[in-house]
Amino acid sequence: MTDQPNEQRTFGFETRAVHAGAAPDPATGARATPIYQTTSYVFDDVEDAAALFNLQKMGFIYSRLTNPTVSVLEERIASLEGGRGATATSSGHAAQMLTFFALMSPGEEFLSSRKLYGGSLNQFANSFPRAFGWKAIFVDGEDADSYRRALTPKTKAIFIESLANPGGVVSDIAAIAEVAREANIPLIVDNTMATPYLCRPIEHGATLVVHSTTKFLSGHGNSVGGVVVDSGKFDWTAAGKYPALSDPEPGYHGLRFHETFGDLAFTIHAHAIGLRDLGPNQQPMNAFLTITGIETLALRMERHCANALKVAEFLQGHPAVAWVNYAGLPDSPYNALSRKYMPKGAGSVFTFGLKGGFDAGVAMVEGVELFSHLANIGDTRSLIIHPASTTHRQLSEEGLKASGATPDVIRLSIGIESAEDIIADLDQALKKAVR
Ligand SMILES: *Cc1c(COP(=O)(O)O)cnc(C)c1O
Repeated sequence: MTDQPNEQRTFGFETRAVHAGAAPDPATGARATPIYQTTSYVFDDVEDAAALFNLQKMGFIYSRLTNPTVSVLEERIASLEGGRGATATSSGHAAQMLTFFALMSPGEEFLSSRKLYGGSLNQFANSFPRAFGWKAIFVDGEDADSYRRALTPKTKAIFIESLANPGGVVSDIAAIAEVAREANIPLIVDNTMATPYLCRPIEHGATLVVHSTTKFLSGHGNSVGGVVVDSGKFDWTAAGKYPALSDPEPGYHGLRFHETFGDLAFTIHAHAIGLRDLGPNQQPMNAFLTITGIETLALRMERHCANALKVAEFLQGHPAVAWVNYAGLPDSPYNALSRKYMPKGAGSVFTFGLKGGFDAGVAMVEGVELFSHLANIGDTRSLIIHPASTTHRQLSEEGLKASGATPDVIRLSIGIESAEDIIADLDQALKKAVR
C-alpha cells in the first residue's frame, strides 16, 4: 500500500477504504485518483516495450489489460479483502467468467450452491456449458457434507455466496473451505451482498473472492463492475490440475505463470490472458466512481444494516406478512452463522413473504412511492423487487422453489434514508397489497 508510513502497523479497514492503492498523482499532485481516460501508453523505447510485452516488467501497455485508475481500484479491494491481488472487470458476471476461465477446461465440473443470485444461475446452468463446456453441479444441501458428497475427480472448484441472494442464506464458509482444501481445489466466494466490511471470506479459508462492484462497493447505483480477488494461497502447480496457471503458456513464449509469479500468478494471468483474450475490462470512469464509493463503505454499511434490522422487525410484526428471511433476526435459522461470519450486521438485502402470494407481490411493488421498483441491490436508495415476476422469471416452477424465489417473495435492498420514512412507505404499500 502506497500510503503506509511504516511497516510495523497495519492500517484499519476504514483507513484502507480511503487510502489503499492511491497516492497523489505523480504528474500533477491531484489528490483524488485521476480518471486515466486513455487507451494506451507511450513506451520509453523498443527495449521497454519488449519487456512490457514479455511480462518481464510491470507497466501499462493498453487499457484492455491494465489502466492506472483501474489498478487503484484493484489494489484497494485486494487490501480490504485481505487478498494478494485483484482483477477488475466490466461486471460481476464478467468476474465469474474470468475466474472460471483460468481454472476450467471443457468437460470439467465445479460445484455450486443452488442458492444463488438468479443471473448466476442462468450463467452457470445455461451459458457456461453451452459456450465453454463447463458443467455446474448444483448442490442442494447447505452443509459441508453435501459438498463433500458431490465431489468427483472432475470437480475443479466450489462456488458459494457468503450471503445468498435472495434466500437470506449464510454459508458456512470455513466448513466448505475445509472440503475444498481436502479435495485440493479452490473455494470461490461471491461476497457481493456482504462486502468485505461485513465478511472477509479469505480469513475463513476461501481461495478466490468475486464481487459485483455494481452493488454496495460502488454503492450509489451508478456503475456496473466486478472484481476477482486472489488470496495468493493456493498452490496451482502442486494441485496438478490447473494447466493455465502451471503449464507453459504458448501466448507468452512458454512462460509458466505460477512458477514465474508465485502468489501473484492468478492475478497476472487474469490480466495478461483473461482480460487480454476475453476483453471484459473495467472502464476508468466506473473504477473512479467505485473508488469514491468505497471510501464511505464502512459508514454506509453500518446505516444499511441498522435500517435493515428495523425494517425486518417492522415486517415481522405486520399482519399481511407471512415470514421474514433476515439473518439479522434472532429467530432466523442463519442467525448463528451470520454472527460468526458477519458480526457487524447481516447486510441490507433480504426477502419476506406476503400472505396474499403472487398478486399481493405485484400490488406491493406497484404501491411503493419512496422505494424504487428495479433489478439492483446495494444502492443508497431503498429498492424493491418481486423476483417471481422479474429476476427469476426465466426459471421453471421447480427452479423458483429451489432458489428460494417462490411467488409470494418480495426482495428488499434497504437504503440509507431515514428508517421512519422507509417503514412508512412499506406500511402504505402493504395496505394496498392486502386490499
Ligand atoms: C448482481 C450480482 C451479480 C452479477 O453482477 P453484475 O455486476 O450485475 O454482472 C453476481 N452475484 C451477485 C450476488 C449479485 O448480486
